[in-house]
Amino acid sequence: MRITERLRRKFWSQVEIGSESECWEWKGVLSQDRFAKFNLSRMTSTSAQRFAMQDYLGKRISKHHYVVRTCENPRCVNPAHLTLSYSPKLTFKRSPSVIKSQTRRAIPVLRSSGFSITEISRALGVKWMKTSRLLRQAA
Ligand SMILES: [Zn+2]
Repeated sequence: MRITERLRRKFWSQVEIGSESECWEWKGVLSQDRFAKFNLSRMTSTSAQRFAMQDYLGKRISKHHYVVRTCENPRCVNPAHLTLSYSPKLTFKRSPSVIKSQTRRAIPVLRSSGFSITEISRALGVKWMKTSRLLRQAA
């Protein structure tokens, strides 16, 4: 994703910016599964958190990283409350039951980071229908 001046203005005009410790709430649209979503154009969108993080870092975030909130507010896009993490599939080890619960937790996080259901299902090795169902349960 390339961030132009126009996109940057459009994005931050939809954020209620506060102090560094406060949550900066996204006032724009939410996706169907209620995650903060930023429309880059009529056809493409990304997660608001991912856009905020990329703008803050000033460089492209690789597809192997996802942006995770460190606060509990799903609308928060304050870069101070966001962190970058590697794709969770690299950390998936241990017993099947641990993998199962990690997968459950990772799906909504990945979705809110702008990954499609198809991408998540491939990355985690979970069937598309199941990924979609787990996502609905988490919402
Ligand atoms: Zn926050």
